[in-house]
Amino acid sequence: MAHLKQIDIENFKSWRGKQVIGPFMRFNCIIGTNGSGKSNLMDALSFVMGERASALRVKHLGDLIHGAHVGRPVSRTARVSMRYCDEKGVETEFSRSISGDSSEYRINDARVTFSVYSEELLNIGIITKTQNCLVFQGAVESIALKDPKERTKMLEYISQSRDYAAEYSLKKEALQKA
Ligand code: ATP
Ligand code: MG
Repeated sequence: MAHLKQIDIENFKSWRGKQVIGPFMRFNCIIGTNGSGKSNLMDALSFVMGERASALRVKHLGDLIHGAHVGRPVSRTARVSMRYCDEKGVETEFSRSISGDSSEYRINDARVTFSVYSEELLNIGIITKTQNCLVFQGAVESIALKDPKERTKMLEYISQSRDYAAEYSLKKEALQKA
């Protein structure tokens, strides 16, 4: 089964210097005391999946650099890479780094535009608006309290099954008529 294999981080939020997180299994559990960086790991994943600053609990991308939250960034840049392994064991590295107040995106070390980057992510089933595939702290309750139709809509969007809805309805209609 395809899965996230490893995350490489450099000067991002609570990680100073180069750090490796992983290797990940197909199911993983991250535990730690309050303030130990569990949500920061979610932020790192959101960041490398192309999320904008406002959804990452900061005003500017530069605030994500280690030490910037106390006005002492340790570097002018920060980077997060995720190594993804497909069903055949082929690995692809997606990488995003902060450059001033904008970002640089790379796939297997080759610089690409955001649109190429997000298209490649979509090819492996990741929708770049990550709040749709990552459930953040506090969001579990709001999802549970959603109106069932709204929840179904959300799950159809994440699983991309909505793309097949029209085809499915046509087939269902044809079967009913037969
Ligand atoms: P909780 O269990 O309370 O949800 P958590 O494990 O999710 O905690 P996080 O929110 O991931 O904790 O981490 C908070 C920590 O991250 C704080 O101690 C904060 O100082 C640190 N932090 C946030 N931004 C930066 C930054 N730019 N540089 C260094 N440390 C940072
Ligand atoms: Mg948290």
